[in-house]
Amino acid sequence: MRHKFTRNNSKKKVSLMLAAARLFAALVLTAAGPAGAQEKHLIDPTPPGSLNPEPLPPLKNPDAPSTPAKELFARKTTPFPGPPRSIGGYFDGCLAGAAALPITGPAWQVMRLSRNRNWGNPQLVRFIEQFAENAKKVGWNGLLVGDMSQPRGGPMLSEHKSHQIGLDADIWFTAMPDHVQSREEREFGSAIDVVAPDQRDVDPQVWTHTHTELIRTAAQDPAVVRILVNAAIKKALCREAGTDRAWLFKVRPWYGHAEHFHVQIACPAGSEECKPQAPPRPGDGCGHELDFWFKQSTLHPPPRKPKPDLTLAGLPPACRQIVKAP
Ligand SMILES: [Zn+2]
Repeated sequence: MRHKFTRNNSKKKVSLMLAAARLFAALVLTAAGPAGAQEKHLIDPTPPGSLNPEPLPPLKNPDAPSTPAKELFARKTTPFPGPPRSIGGYFDGCLAGAAALPITGPAWQVMRLSRNRNWGNPQLVRFIEQFAENAKKVGWNGLLVGDMSQPRGGPMLSEHKSHQIGLDADIWFTAMPDHVQSREEREFGSAIDVVAPDQRDVDPQVWTHTHTELIRTAAQDPAVVRILVNAAIKKALCREAGTDRAWLFKVRPWYGHAEHFHVQIACPAGSEECKPQAPPRPGDGCGHELDFWFKQSTLHPPPRKPKPDLTLAGLPPACRQIVKAP
């Protein structure tokens, strides 16, 4: 199995590290002070992973129609064989013939290996490899890659509603270090939050113009249809874009996305089962279009009632075969 970690590490060391990670998280939350900063962290977590991820316990009733589809997809640790197929929509679909992004490349490293979410349509893998190379050319030291998809796509147990058909990837706003990171660093290293505590702009202590160039580079790739960033980041991009603004329409403000950005690529040519999303509205999306995002009620939204879990009935019929296959 991939990601197997050497057993020489004593449990004690691991639990010490976990305790340290938790203490650190608690300190960050306490130090954040204003409610806004806390909410921001809660909305957009990059929680520490684990060096010894426990396999999920078997489901008592996997065939019950009410079984959440995420429980089924999360238990699949290998891709469905055959040609690549992105089936259904970004928010309600699955993936066959997935490829894994190698965990270390010339200009990228995958984070949180314990999540086993570095899978995608081979087109997504190709995009990341190309993007990593292009990012180097604008002065970014290399990509830290967060979640892509599960081996068979589908809904996940944590964090995402999209990322279901192998065409979405999260890229950290932290540049790759110069060395190949250890398992520990990949599981416990934290992503840099580039948004100021009041959420009204980027944090000048950590934001650089290279961040703008990084996002511009991704948006200018013809495969990319949409990029999601925190509204404070969109505001900074609007300010820093200069006269070449044609790419800005792809970069949309969204909740969270303060320490990573979300890149979505188009349905690959000829993939008839893939359901595209409506393209973003034309125009750079700057100025008053951002007002909504800085209203008190948006910055501090009331808790939302969770939506009911998707079941297999809510996904394309082919996804049932894909998740049920051994
Ligand atoms: Zn994402």
